[in-house]
Amino acid sequence: ALTTPNPLSTQAIQALDSAHFIHPFTDHADLATRGSRVIVKSEGIYIWDSEGEKILDAMSGLWCVNAGYGRKELAQAAFDQMMTLPFYNSFFQTTNVPAVKLAAKLASLAPKVGERSFEHVFYSSSGSESNDSNVRMVRRYWDLLGQPQRKVIISRHNAYHGSTMAGASLGGMSGMHAQGDLPIPNITHIDQPYFFENALPGETADEFGVRAARWLEDKILAVGPDKVAAFIAEPIQGAGGVIIPPASYWPEIQRIVDKYGILLISDEVICAFGRLGHWFAYEKFGYKPDLVTFAKAVTSGYIPLGGVMVGDRVAKVLIEKGGEFNHGYTYSGHPVACAVALANLEIMEREQLPQRVKDDIGPYLASCFEAIGTHPLVGVAETCGFTAGLVLVKNKASRERFDENLGVGMMCRRHCFQNGLIMRAVGDRMIIAPPLTMTHADIDEMMRLIRQALDLTL
Ligand code: PLP
Repeated sequence: ALTTPNPLSTQAIQALDSAHFIHPFTDHADLATRGSRVIVKSEGIYIWDSEGEKILDAMSGLWCVNAGYGRKELAQAAFDQMMTLPFYNSFFQTTNVPAVKLAAKLASLAPKVGERSFEHVFYSSSGSESNDSNVRMVRRYWDLLGQPQRKVIISRHNAYHGSTMAGASLGGMSGMHAQGDLPIPNITHIDQPYFFENALPGETADEFGVRAARWLEDKILAVGPDKVAAFIAEPIQGAGGVIIPPASYWPEIQRIVDKYGILLISDEVICAFGRLGHWFAYEKFGYKPDLVTFAKAVTSGYIPLGGVMVGDRVAKVLIEKGGEFNHGYTYSGHPVACAVALANLEIMEREQLPQRVKDDIGPYLASCFEAIGTHPLVGVAETCGFTAGLVLVKNKASRERFDENLGVGMMCRRHCFQNGLIMRAVGDRMIIAPPLTMTHADIDEMMRLIRQALDLTL
């Protein structure tokens, strides 16, 4: 019975779900009483549940579905590749055509910055694995350069870099650290550049941005500059609540990493592939990473694929001095995933999705968020490209926040969920990252649903 479409009632699926399926980041006691919402189909910017309710997905799944749902070309690419060569590994001197073509394509899309360019790709199947690979590559790089004492990687509190031991350690989520005896050794954190929360009275955004970047220099000096291997950061923090650094932040970070010669890792699992109006987000902020993590929207989430763009500085050392790098995954360069990625990038190019975000729907979303910023419950509303966040406040004039235990964000999220909108809550910050295919009318409809949820939460 399980093989035919929707053969079971919602209740029956929920009972099986609760009996057998351990979900990520989920309280199962709560799930057992409430039941999961069963998502059964999708088209464009919408998903449907098993009761037939239509929901506008303003989170693109989990920041993945940049090209929107229902793309037959991607299914066709997977089908064709599965019938030709469903799998072969890229270990031990073999390769496959989609993996090679995709590597060359990604290299052509990654902008050159100054003397640094990205000619090489290392593949994985997710963002977490890619960041584990980053840790391995960074350490190997310094070992090969005769500086094995350079092991420390600096990251930021409230960053998200994945859920493996290294990914969760690089990430700065205290709840994750508490449950896993993390971080693993030689990973340390500085504070995030969250202007709304951490600025001093009277401090401008640019003053704050420079001050926040200098926490990196303080940390380098505290650890010992000869022990620091790399700094890793998301261009804007996604899972942390769409935390957008002031314009002064990244240039100052660049000055500091250059001064101490440490590697810079840009984790673009969320920010690449059009989300911020560029193929890669380091271009938007004008900094020069040595390694760039990607995943999610490289295939618009249709099939798992991740990887690292390896800049010339690191690639040269690994390739010319390294011999065999004892690291890799069975699915590194999976032909089906790479074929889907190629088809997805072709759609994005044809429909100019990064450009649309930059010139059209990004600015339109910004104007809509400026308008919703006047809502009595909203302390600040801000966008970057085609992602946005707003803070729910108790008192708009004084910017007084709600008591954390009240769970006001989750309350608002539930109102969205019940009214046909997926919006995510991170504490008291409500965030979105919709498909890049949205029209102005779609955005208007999304804003109507957001306003309705805010009114209900008031
Ligand atoms: N890095 C960033 C910036 C992310 O947002 C995520 C996931 O949300 C990850 C890494 C982990 O990716 P994955 O869940 O594919 O392992």
